[in-house]
Amino acid sequence: MIDLTTEIQRLKQDRNAVILAHNYQLDEVQRVADYVGDSLYLSKVAANSKQDVIVFCGVRFMAETAKILSPTKTVLLPEKDAGCPLAEMITAEGLRTLKSKHPGVPVVCYINSSAEVKAESDICCTSANAVKIVASLSDRKVIFVPDENLGDYVAKQIPEKELILWKGHCVTHAKVKAEDVKQVRELYPAAKILIHPECNPAVVKLADFVGSTSEIIRYAEESEESTFVIGTEMGVVCTLRETLPNKQFFLLHPGLVCPNMKKTRLESVYQALHNHQYEIDVEQEHILSAQRTLERMLEVV
Ligand code: SF4
Repeated sequence: MIDLTTEIQRLKQDRNAVILAHNYQLDEVQRVADYVGDSLYLSKVAANSKQDVIVFCGVRFMAETAKILSPTKTVLLPEKDAGCPLAEMITAEGLRTLKSKHPGVPVVCYINSSAEVKAESDICCTSANAVKIVASLSDRKVIFVPDENLGDYVAKQIPEKELILWKGHCVTHAKVKAEDVKQVRELYPAAKILIHPECNPAVVKLADFVGSTSEIIRYAEESEESTFVIGTEMGVVCTLRETLPNKQFFLLHPGLVCPNMKKTRLESVYQALHNHQYEIDVEQEHILSAQRTLERMLEVV
């Protein structure tokens, strides 16, 4: 039987490839990755990568983002059906209709969106920089798509702005209810509750800290507290348990497992490198506009 980790390392050298993995990926995948992080970090790595091939262990919009930022590179998504239901809740056509109702209003799109939607938008954002991106615009009114919960969180941080929100949401984070937070508060009264802004507003309101995956990880690293309840995908809990063994981490809700992120296994990474699959292509007509949308974000943060 072949040792997948050794083979992946060998193929990576042969193909001149770099492996990127999102924080929500399985441990076995994160361990073979060259870079692990959230969407913002990984998009910066993709933009600056020197290798010919980028193996993106995540979901489709992430691999598409890497392709938009590095169009001359080969970008591989190890599991071709790994999509993001949130990104699929908006189409370019739907966005064009919304824009036609608000002429001249700039569009901020969350990175969890297709290349076509990015191409229709003015500037992109991630959960780590959404507040900063919206605040950087001079317009008072802003269209924010497709995550209604993140948009609501941003609107509360910048009350002087008026956000027009699209009604999309992450099906995984939406499983958490305010009642769940109240229950864990009783169960672990000394714990800090750290929550992702993709959760619904009633949940976010009860958090001790709200942040993106990397911000949650940083908070736990820097905090003097020792017990934390994590309100985002369980991959973050796995990472924290491994990197901070002297602290305790609990998952806020057992449903915080993204089935799409968990499709990629070590075997998928091996097959991706071995069979050169599944290559991501973004239509030429969308690349330049989507690139501008992403680059504007990278200029702000
Ligand atoms: Fe999409 Fe939610 Fe899964 Fe992230 S956790 S990839 S937003 S479905």
